[in-house]
Amino acid sequence: MIEIENKANCCGCSACKNICPRNAISMVEDEKGFKYPKVNYNYCINCNLCEKVCPIINGASDNKTFETEAYAAFNINEEIRMNSSSGGLFSLIAEYILNSGGIVFGAVFDENFLVKHVKAEKMSEISQMRGSKYIQSDIRKTYKEARDFLNQGKKVLFTGTPCQVEGLKSYLMKDYENLYLQDIICHGVPSKKVWEKYLECRKKEDNDVLENVSFRDKENNGWNKYELLFKYKNSKKFINHTEDMFMRIFLSDIALRDSCYSCKFKQKKRNSDITLADFWGINEIIPEMNDEKGTSLLIVNSEKGKDILESIKQKIKFKKVDFEKAIEKNPSMTKSPTLKEERERFFKDLNNLSLENIFEKYI
Ligand SMILES: Cc1cc2nc3c(=O)[nH]c(=O)nc-3n(C[C@H](O)[C@H](O)[C@H](O)COP(=O)(O)OP(=O)(O)OC[C@H]3O[C@@H](n4cnc5c(N)ncnc54)[C@H](O)[C@@H]3O)c2cc1C
Repeated sequence: MIEIENKANCCGCSACKNICPRNAISMVEDEKGFKYPKVNYNYCINCNLCEKVCPIINGASDNKTFETEAYAAFNINEEIRMNSSSGGLFSLIAEYILNSGGIVFGAVFDENFLVKHVKAEKMSEISQMRGSKYIQSDIRKTYKEARDFLNQGKKVLFTGTPCQVEGLKSYLMKDYENLYLQDIICHGVPSKKVWEKYLECRKKEDNDVLENVSFRDKENNGWNKYELLFKYKNSKKFINHTEDMFMRIFLSDIALRDSCYSCKFKQKKRNSDITLADFWGINEIIPEMNDEKGTSLLIVNSEKGKDILESIKQKIKFKKVDFEKAIEKNPSMTKSPTLKEERERFFKDLNNLSLENIFEKYI
């Protein structure tokens, strides 16, 4: 059965929890705010399926022969693009799948502004998946749900971080013609505990009822200099990401999940069909594709990915780019962040000091 001795060897994808035939595995939060599997030995029957589906134990396969293609692209629907983190391509891919009677899985906020994976069966449910949420999304039992839909013959689009997409592939244990996988270039996921503490600070300072959060608002300063937007019942608050306490902790790499520092899935050859990212560096490569409303880097990893691009072509503006050039300004495609020496102390203090004090001390 699954036993995590070294936390760097668990990405928290929940494949083990989803496969367990006895529901013996729960995901339990540790003192840093990251979830790990915990086996209830009273129910475990030692079938070892949990280890068989672990994407870290299995490792990501990198023997794909498909010649990866890269594009700069954005959705021509300006409203959707402005409400998305980069070029608004996710929404178009989702629309394509839904229009063919399929199901889409993605990350949404719950009522406490924590992040979870859910399914969408109609377009009105896609808007809540739109936009990057910089906390690890809880997969819950969505792998199991996705498999049930696949077995019914429905098309399924599963979107998420590279480890979540690999977790699903590993969980399924076989290929499905009706499965579409879309991952992102992922910097890493910060601690949910930091986010919860940050939300408490916002509550104290802003003193209003929070209704929505956008980590990547482009309204005032555009896409490159994005702001966080807190929508309250009676007001709105914009904070530039370079000045925001949570974003600065996130981007300083001190509070990421243990496994993010040695991510097994940051590779050029991916098992997903499409990889989406911000096209950082677009100004130098194709300046005419940057109007500060957001440009995506669209990476096609398979024939299925090519079909997706073909089907959304009429609704995007796009241009092919040399793959190596396209990822030049996006190190997270292949490199993990560096583990900070003071990280352990940071997390010890997180349980004792206020977030403002921790911020002063470490950032
Ligand atoms: C934690 C995280 C780190 C990222 N790091 C980088 C990076 O280093 N470089 C880079 O270029 N791009 C990064 N991105 C991706 C980028 O911000 C955009 O998500 C991507 O460009 C797609 O944008 P879009 O405009 O097409 O669609 P959007 O509508 O903005 O994207 C929505 C998609 O993101 C998924 N999503 C949102 N939050 C999460 C989450 N917490 N966990 C899993 N999936 C989520 C949704 O399910 C949906 O598929 C990161 C995203 C996240 C969530």
